[in-house]
Formats: sequence, structure tokens, C-alpha cells
Amino acid sequence: MLHERLSSIYENVLRRNAGETEFHQAVREVLESIGPVLGKHPEYAESKIIERICEPERQIIFRVPWEDDRGEVHINRGFRVEFNSALGPYKGGLRFHPSVYLGIVKFLGFEQIFKNSLTGLPIGGGKGGSDFDPKGRSEREVMRFCQSFMTELYRHIGEYTDVPAGDIGVGQREVGYLFGQYKRITNRYESGVITGKGLSYGGAQVRTEATGYGCAFFVAEMLKARGTSFDGRRVAVSGSGNVAVYTIEKVRQLGGIVVACSDSSGYVVDDKGVDLDLLKQVKQVERRRLDVYAERRGGNATFVPGRSVWEVPCEVAMPSATQNEITGRDAELLVRNGCVAVGEGANMPTTPEGIRIFEEAGVAFGPGKAANAGGVATSALEMQQNASRDSWTFEFSENRLQQIMRDIHDRCLRSADEYGMPGNYVAGANIDGFKRVADAMLALGLI
Ligand code: NDP
Repeated sequence: MLHERLSSIYENVLRRNAGETEFHQAVREVLESIGPVLGKHPEYAESKIIERICEPERQIIFRVPWEDDRGEVHINRGFRVEFNSALGPYKGGLRFHPSVYLGIVKFLGFEQIFKNSLTGLPIGGGKGGSDFDPKGRSEREVMRFCQSFMTELYRHIGEYTDVPAGDIGVGQREVGYLFGQYKRITNRYESGVITGKGLSYGGAQVRTEATGYGCAFFVAEMLKARGTSFDGRRVAVSGSGNVAVYTIEKVRQLGGIVVACSDSSGYVVDDKGVDLDLLKQVKQVERRRLDVYAERRGGNATFVPGRSVWEVPCEVAMPSATQNEITGRDAELLVRNGCVAVGEGANMPTTPEGIRIFEEAGVAFGPGKAANAGGVATSALEMQQNASRDSWTFEFSENRLQQIMRDIHDRCLRSADEYGMPGNYVAGANIDGFKRVADAMLALGLI
């Protein structure tokens, strides 16, 4: 239910951003949490902080022309939404996926404002991407696309302005091509302009692993708060990209057994525990599908095409693929099968109905804004190392990540408590993230 004032703000968001359903969903979730904050802080309403937060500071849409290996010309659309810079330069990844349109970029950018705030680090919120589909494209095609994309994007970004990173379809390979073109056009070795770089040219230890590791650390904290742990628990992870792979790695190190993972073709069940080396070989090195994983695993694993991984019984669910992948029906099934905790590695992977079902069932639910914030937090550490021309060890960086995730966990619980919603991580993350941005916006005047 929305507070009356928030309800009219939401109506206005719907009117001004017609058809952008993912953006509407992300805004609504935040507005549903912050009603009690307005009661305590009338100054936020007086200076229209919420209306301002819902309107991006700047939205850039551009043409990306490129040529495939046969010489055929393609035209894609590029986006960068610079949502809020009250806390620092805009910060958020780039997504290359055919489903990308303005509504997806705005939902991701909006979420990013609160997530980045929650990390306690000086980073604003932004997001970008393109409807380009890297699947099936050759190395050279991907490189040409990235170069064309950056040929427009470069004029809008900078280490003090806007700092992109990866997301779906944008990993270290793409970040390398993007950074290379930025360097060439600007004639500046400005390492802090993009994060997720390779270690040989300014990347940071643990950035590749950070989102997945961080999510596993966050879930471990939620379990600890309930007097339990990952030890011996069956875990299902969706996706098999960057976030999923490193979630699986850390969950295993923490004692859990990852029995299933997926990609856009279906899922595999592997009761003895997913073979991580094989998964990395098939998905990251060969860039092939999960049926190949099952085939090479012999009788140990089964590939189930076209179905949802959430039908696999598990005690912990870690959605790490894409938005709205856990529906109300999936949530009901997970609860019935004994799921006690959910950690969102992906952004907004659970539908509002799914969240309601988990909350009613008393499942520990860690929303993406909090649970997957380790990625962007480690990006901020990469920026810090670039600025000081320094590089930290793996162990030191992982310890910092773990501490950041503990702090985020505790901050969520504290804010949820303070506003009368004990144990509610969704409310805690939204309130805590919102207040820090709102206070900075108040201090900076009407801009
Ligand atoms: P990757 O491109 O590395 O992997 C994405 C995985 O999800 C792939 O296995 C892909 O399947 C699957 N997937 C993507 N879209 C769909 C879809 N529409 N239906 C079914 N499966 C799909 O991306 P990341 O691992 O980087 O990102 C995963 C999620 O984590 C996203 O929601 C992203 O926003 C979020 N995130 C990522 C961060 C990061 O640091 N990378 C930071 C914070 C959040 P296939 O292999 O078939 O393509």
C-alpha cells in the first residue's frame, strides 16, 4: 500500500514514463518502503526529494552503427541514463542484450542509486547498454560493436563524471575493447573511467568475483542472524554467467552444495554439486550452452530444456540471471520445497508477488540492492586503486568486500528496526539507501 502523497507521485511516474513497466516496478518497490520515513522527515517532502529522485538527471540515447564480418551494416541503439550524482560520479554497468530498451536501463539506473548509497561509498547511480545481442557474434564483430558504442559514449563519461562497468553481455572482454577505444579517442590513460578491467591494464583483484562472492557473504550473514549457516544446505543458482559462477564458487567454500544452475536454454541438476571447472570451461571459455555441460558430466547431471530452475528443491535460492525470473508461482513452489533463504544476485529477479509470498512464509529475503552490492562496491575500490596508482592483494580486497557486505547487512536490519519493520531487508535497504541520498540532495540545494 502506498502512502497518499506517494501514491500521487507514483501516478505521475506512470504518466511521464509510459510503457516502461520495469521502471514502474522498481519505483513502486522503493515508494512502498519509504512512507514511514516521510512521517519522520517532512523536509524530504517539502523539497520534493522523491519527485526529483524519480527523474533522471540526464538520459542519452544514441545510434550505434557497425559492420558484421560479411560487410552487412547493422544499427543498434545505445543508452546511458545518468540518474543521480548527489553522492558521487554516476556509476553503474552496461548491459548488451536484445531486450534492452529505455525502461530496463531506467529501472537498473534507479535501483543503482540506492544500492550505491547503501555501500557507504562515494558513488552516484547510472546505467546503460544496448539492444545489441553478442550471442553468436565473432570476436571481431564484438570488438567493432564496442568501438562504435564508445565512439559516442566517450563524450559523456569520465572518472569524475560517469564510470560504467559490465552487466549482462558485458564482461572483461567487452570492457577491454571499450576502454581501448576510450583511450584512443581521448589520448588519456584514464583508468578510473571504467571498472571491471583486466588485471594487466588497471583492473582490481576480486572485481570479477565480487558480485557473486558478495551475494554469498550476504546470505551467510542472513543465515547467521537466524542462528544457522550454509553448511550442507542445498542451493539452487539461476544463470551461469559472471554473477552465478562466482556465487557458486563462494557458496561451495562456505559449505553449501550447489545442486542446480541455468542459462537461457534451460537448467542442469547435478545432485553431487556443480562441477565449477567444467562450468567455467563450457560457459566462459567455449561460450556454449548447458546441455554441453550435462553431456560432459556423464551420468552425474541432467539437462532440462526450457524450464525454470526454481522447480529444483533447495533450501537456499540465489537468482543470478535476470529481472522477474522468480514469479509468484515459482516462489510458492520454492517455499513448499523447503526454501529458507533467498539472495538476489541479479537485479529485481523476484516479482512483487514473489516477494510477498517469501515475506509471508518467513523466508529470509535479501533484495538485490543489498545482496548484489558487492560488485559495485568493489568497482569503487578499483577506482580508488586507479586514483592512487596502487593495487591491493586478493586477500586484502576480499576481506574489504566481506566487511562491506556485513556492514550492508547490519545497516538494512538497523533501518528496518528503526522504522518498525524488523527483519525486513527490502524495507531496510530502501530506507537506508534513500536517506543517505536524500540528505545529500538537501545539502546540495535545488539542482
Ligand atoms: P552474464 O551475461 O555474465 O550472465 C547472465 C546469465 O543469465 C547467463 O547465464 C544468461 O544465459 C542468463 N540470462 C540472461 N538473460 C536471461 C533471460 N532473459 N532469460 C534467462 N536467462 C538469462 O551477466 P551477469 O552475471 O553479469 O549478470 C546477471 C545479473 O546480475 C543481472 O541481473 C545483472 O544486472 C546483475 N548484476 C551484475 C553485476 C555484475 O557485476 N556483473 C553486479 C550486480 C548485479 P545465457 O548464458 O544463455 O546467455
